Amino acid sequence: MPYITSMFMPRAKGDRPLPVPKISKNLALISQFVEIPDDVVFTVEYSIRVAQMAVYELLGIDRKIPPILHHDDSLKVKFDAVVKAFL
Ligand SMILES: Cc1cc2nc3c(=O)[nH]c(=O)nc-3n(C[C@H](O)[C@H](O)[C@H](O)COP(=O)(O)OP(=O)(O)OC[C@H]3O[C@@H](n4cnc5c(N)ncnc54)[C@H](O)[C@@H]3O)c2cc1C
Repeated sequence: MPYITSMFMPRAKGDRPLPVPKISKNLALISQFVEIPDDVVFTVEYSIRVAQMAVYELLGIDRKIPPILHHDDSLKVKFDAVVKAFL
């Protein structure tokens, strides 16, 4: 369990590599410590999305990466969360 929090440690842009680093032609990186801008770590989706990005890019596969969903952007969800916190 303590390892879980390591994913949420503050980080600067560039601390974590992209799935396929800009200088790479045949090396890709996967899992939770790879950077996907705007995505949230600690989900199975994150690992899958990284793997898809790595494989599609290196093998030149023309398929869409599933979009990142920002459920928390809606006011309703935020309001529901506040209500839940006090129930
Ligand atoms: C308690 C808990 C609850 C969670 N709940 C959720 C949830 O509800 N929803 C959700 O989306 N996510 C959840 N997660 C997060 C999710 O499980 C992980 O983000 C996801 O499993 C990471 O997948 P991965 O394939 O990147 O890495 P992992 O699943 O960690 O796979 C890495 C694999 O590499 C193997 N490995 C490591 N070192 C070596 C080595 N040297 N040689 C060979 N093999 C090696 C490991 O044994 C492991 O099998 C939870 C995680 C935990 C711990």
